[in-house]
Amino acid sequence: MPHHYRCPVCAIRSRPYWTRAGAEEHGRAHRRRYHGGDHPDGERIQHLPHRTPERGEVIAVALVLALLALALLLK
Ligand SMILES: [Zn+2]
Repeated sequence: MPHHYRCPVCAIRSRPYWTRAGAEEHGRAHRRRYHGGDHPDGERIQHLPHRTPERGEVIAVALVLALLALALLLK
Protein backbone atom coordinates (compact mmCIF):
# COMPACT_ATOMS: atom_id res chain seq x y z
CA MET A 1 0.00 0.00 0.00
CA PRO A 2 1.61 3.29 -1.05
CA HIS A 3 2.47 5.95 1.51
CA HIS A 4 2.92 9.66 0.92
CA TYR A 5 4.36 12.42 3.08
CA ARG A 6 2.16 15.53 3.07
CA CYS A 7 3.19 19.02 4.13
CA PRO A 8 0.18 21.38 4.14
CA VAL A 9 2.41 24.43 4.74
CA CYS A 10 4.22 23.88 1.43
CA ALA A 11 1.15 22.27 -0.17
CA ILE A 12 3.15 19.25 -1.34
CA ARG A 13 2.67 15.51 -1.41
CA SER A 14 5.71 13.28 -1.85
CA ARG A 15 6.04 10.60 -4.47
CA PRO A 16 4.63 7.25 -3.32
CA TYR A 17 6.69 4.94 -1.12
CA TRP A 18 5.91 1.27 -0.60
CA THR A 19 6.79 1.51 3.09
CA ARG A 20 5.77 3.94 5.77
CA ALA A 21 9.46 4.24 6.72
CA GLY A 22 10.26 5.53 3.23
CA ALA A 23 7.63 8.26 3.47
CA GLU A 24 8.78 9.16 6.98
CA GLU A 25 12.37 9.54 5.76
CA HIS A 26 11.11 11.81 2.99
CA GLY A 27 9.38 13.87 5.68
CA ARG A 28 12.57 14.11 7.76
CA ALA A 29 14.54 15.33 4.74
CA HIS A 30 11.79 17.82 3.86
CA ARG A 31 11.70 19.23 7.41
CA ARG A 32 15.50 19.60 7.52
CA ARG A 33 15.65 21.33 4.15
CA TYR A 34 12.60 23.60 4.23
CA HIS A 35 11.62 24.01 7.89
CA GLY A 36 14.92 23.98 9.79
CA GLY A 37 14.02 20.59 11.33
CA ASP A 38 10.73 21.84 12.83
CA HIS A 39 7.44 19.98 12.31
CA PRO A 40 4.98 21.95 10.18
CA ASP A 41 1.40 22.00 11.52
CA GLY A 42 -0.71 19.33 9.89
CA GLU A 43 2.08 17.28 8.32
CA ARG A 44 1.26 13.59 8.04
CA ILE A 45 1.91 10.28 6.38
CA GLN A 46 -0.99 9.33 4.16
CA HIS A 47 -1.94 5.80 3.16
CA LEU A 48 -3.47 5.56 -0.27
CA PRO A 49 -5.51 2.61 -1.45
CA HIS A 50 -3.91 0.26 -3.90
CA ARG A 51 -4.67 1.25 -7.47
CA THR A 52 -5.42 -1.19 -10.23
CA PRO A 53 -2.66 -1.28 -12.87
CA GLU A 54 -3.58 0.16 -16.24
CA ARG A 55 -3.89 -2.11 -19.25
CA GLY A 56 -0.62 -0.86 -20.76
CA GLU A 57 1.27 -1.61 -17.54
CA VAL A 58 -0.07 -5.16 -17.46
CA ILE A 59 0.92 -5.71 -21.10
CA ALA A 60 4.43 -4.32 -20.49
CA VAL A 61 4.99 -6.65 -17.50
CA ALA A 62 3.66 -9.64 -19.47
CA LEU A 63 6.03 -8.86 -22.37
CA VAL A 64 9.06 -8.58 -20.06
CA LEU A 65 8.17 -11.87 -18.35
CA ALA A 66 7.70 -13.57 -21.73
CA LEU A 67 11.11 -12.30 -22.92
CA LEU A 68 12.78 -13.48 -19.71
CA ALA A 69 11.19 -16.92 -20.05
CA LEU A 70 12.30 -17.12 -23.69
CA ALA A 71 15.84 -16.08 -22.79
CA LEU A 72 16.00 -18.79 -20.12
CA LEU A 73 14.71 -21.42 -22.55
CA LEU A 74 17.26 -20.48 -25.23
CA LYS A 75 20.17 -20.42 -22.82
ZN1 LIG B 1 6.96 21.92 4.02
